[in-house]
Amino acid sequence: MPSSPHLDWPFFEARHKSLATELDRWASANLPHDHESSVDDACRGLVRQLGAAGWLNHAIAGTAYGATSEAIDTRAICLIRETLARHSGLADFAFAMQGLGSGAITLFGSAAQKKKYLPRVAEGEAIAAFALSERNAGSDVAAMQCEARRDGDAYILNGDKTWISNGGIADFYVVFARTGEAEGSRGVSAFVVDSDTPGFKLGERVEVIAPHPLARLVFENCRVPSTQLLGEAGRGFKVAMATLDVFRTSVAAAALGFAQRALAEALSRATSRKMFGQTLADFQLTQAKLAAMATEIDAAALLTYRAAWLRDQGQSVTVEAAMAKWSATETAQRVIDSAVQIFGALGVVSGSVVERLYREIRPLRIYEGATEVQQLIIARGIIKAFQDAGSSRG
Ligand SMILES: Cc1cc2nc3c(=O)[nH]c(=O)nc-3n(C[C@H](O)[C@H](O)[C@H](O)COP(=O)(O)OP(=O)(O)OC[C@H]3O[C@@H](n4cnc5c(N)ncnc54)[C@H](O)[C@@H]3O)c2cc1C
Repeated sequence: MPSSPHLDWPFFEARHKSLATELDRWASANLPHDHESSVDDACRGLVRQLGAAGWLNHAIAGTAYGATSEAIDTRAICLIRETLARHSGLADFAFAMQGLGSGAITLFGSAAQKKKYLPRVAEGEAIAAFALSERNAGSDVAAMQCEARRDGDAYILNGDKTWISNGGIADFYVVFARTGEAEGSRGVSAFVVDSDTPGFKLGERVEVIAPHPLARLVFENCRVPSTQLLGEAGRGFKVAMATLDVFRTSVAAAALGFAQRALAEALSRATSRKMFGQTLADFQLTQAKLAAMATEIDAAALLTYRAAWLRDQGQSVTVEAAMAKWSATETAQRVIDSAVQIFGALGVVSGSVVERLYREIRPLRIYEGATEVQQLIIARGIIKAFQDAGSSRG
């Protein structure tokens, strides 16, 4: 499997190229295609393995805490996810959650909070999670009901969170709860809740088509010291959105990795499968499929690395990240579906690579903002830009 095919594009610096090439080599030598142990043990093992090899140093920022760079390097995170996803969906998941789960601490944490959590995240010693969604507040995040009431030098959390990745194996959770400073999204705050905090417990586990730890979390009079508040009270929505601006783009990169793997598998199968006196790849109908797969992957990759590069230049990328996530996840779904078709019956045999990819890609079109939510973000952004340009013209 080649390392990222886009490394010569102008978005990258020399360090990105060597990072992606080294990781590809490491992943080929160290990551199994299938994980024999339970999904929890496999994830714990992957976090330790990624930490020991130094890859998690890219999931956080701040060299004082063990990071490779002072600021989040979005392109590095994207290249790592793309590469890991090509090799192992679970390894990509383990890396992504260390970043998403600690991203709010990197971006908004106090020096004490960073010192407490980030080095352990980078070493793979502490597992991180991000708890925003609730049963009745998924796309409509502002409808969240989990609440945190101020009580002296602490907050008392009550409510639940659902669909939480790493639920059950995380050592800490970044939790968003309503603190009531204002209605809707302006009355939400973010907290870091350690998994051994009294009043925090695990609800039921949720089994999904591409297995990974996922659970409902329950907070019952869970007392969290106010030193665990992340950023300002009432500004938790901003914390969540800024974190998602980084990691949404990286979801696009993971989708690219899955799609590239599917294209590589499809090329290998189509050029070797004999039928009607030639190979499957000799048929123009197959060639049209392969051409569409390759072209759509490149188009999505351009959007993805544009968003990553812009963010690394310090620009706001809400619209660009939404374009990248929408385009790359929908593209990857189509590409993987074409790969399954090219494999015929073999493509739906449990455990085959394309069958695994077919299951792994599906949730990416739903989490961190479903496709329709990305479309709305893009439309809102371009309409506002158009109106602002109109008012400045007078
Ligand atoms: C595998 C997996 C892992 C996850 N991990 C986490 C996690 O770690 N932390 C966390 O906080 N959450 C997590 N989530 C939750 C995820 O973010 C939500 O599932 C997502 O935000 C969608 O919310 P929902 O499932 O409630 O769907 P709903 O909000 O009910 O939306 C259902 C569908 O409606 C459509 N839709 C939404 N808005 C609109 C609109 N305005 N117009 C038209 N159609 C619309 C979309 O197609 C959407 O899929 C995870 C989910 C999955 C599947």
